[in-house]
Amino acid sequence: MIVFLYIFVSLALVFWVGFPLLNTGTGATRIDELTQERTRSLLDSLSDLYASHDADKMETSDFANIENRILLELAKIYRDQGVDPQASASKKDTCPTCHTPIKSNFQFCPSCGAVAA
Ligand SMILES: [Zn+2]
Repeated sequence: MIVFLYIFVSLALVFWVGFPLLNTGTGATRIDELTQERTRSLLDSLSDLYASHDADKMETSDFANIENRILLELAKIYRDQGVDPQASASKKDTCPTCHTPIKSNFQFCPSCGAVAA
């Protein structure tokens, strides 16, 4: 009888310890709809920014300022969500060389020019 009690207690312990771990594994990395929307628009602004910069339509200091602001905003979102951007982003979403967020239809990284995976 005591054996069953042991099994029951250890199973309960496994669930008690395991469930919160499982929950943070799936829950924390799931970015809610609104945040996803925000992330997407930030990434869009970032590639628009790179496009205007490449077209020489921008002062370099303006470019750096805006780029910094967008990247900080993105970093904050990732941090708030408990997401490691390099682990969670699929290969297509970031440059394999400099990890700049890039659109999946880009063939080259707008930041360093590396071939996008
Ligand atoms: Zn790059």
